[in-house]
Amino acid sequence: MTSTSAGSVLELRGIHQVYGTGDAEVHALRGIDLSVAAGEYMAIMGPSGSGKSTLMNLLGCLDVASSGTYSLAGNDVNDLDEKELARVRNREIGFVFQSFNLVPRMTALQNTELPLAYGGVKYAERKRRGLEALEAVNLSHRADHRPHQLSGGQQQRVAIARALVTNPTLLLADEPTGNLDSESTHEILAIFDQLAAQGRTIVIITHEETVAGRAHRVVTVKDGLITTDRLNRERELAR
Ligand code: ADP
Repeated sequence: MTSTSAGSVLELRGIHQVYGTGDAEVHALRGIDLSVAAGEYMAIMGPSGSGKSTLMNLLGCLDVASSGTYSLAGNDVNDLDEKELARVRNREIGFVFQSFNLVPRMTALQNTELPLAYGGVKYAERKRRGLEALEAVNLSHRADHRPHQLSGGQQQRVAIARALVTNPTLLLADEPTGNLDSESTHEILAIFDQLAAQGRTIVIITHEETVAGRAHRVVTVKDGLITTDRLNRERELAR
């Protein structure tokens, strides 16, 4: 266990990430300090190659840093082996990807329940929690539909339900609207607004100003460093 700042669910201190060795060495992150409080809705922006994916992989416990510390919900992540990392990842993080990654032959409900099936949760309980998660994205009326019967926005909402079904500490989304038209983008942003209003902790990696503009806090990364970290005042006042 590590001590995190009061109220923060995740805290990065002095994070460096170095890929390769010798002449091929790339310093993807060069000293990142970042705290995210419970209930915060944060966007991470930055140009291509700035280190966003590297940061996302660390936040999502998909990788560990070369140096520095990362504490997530009281877990000291930098010291974990692969197996322990997977356990923390499954328990604490709900992922949403640009490509929705739904299983085509499964219904919306079956897709949503999937993380619980892996976790050994019994059928009735899985169904109850799956429907609850679909309800949270206003899609319980489409529970029996397969992905090809749903619009892109609806498919991404199923993916968000699947991310929520384990009740994770952090909802981590990587370019969640990258494959969507503007109408579906608005649909997804409305869901994130709704989840933020319910107190979900959300971190979104995005290229798009319209997406970042909806978050309460926007962090910009450049050349492996955080260059700006600002509150979105209008959004804060609207809360
Ligand atoms: P972004 O997501 O902002 O485009 P990345 O985190 O993917 O940025 O990359 C940051 C830097 O690290 C880039 O210079 C990239 O080429 C390098 N990089 C990323 N992943 C690897 C890797 N697995 N091996 C070597 N270099 C990498």
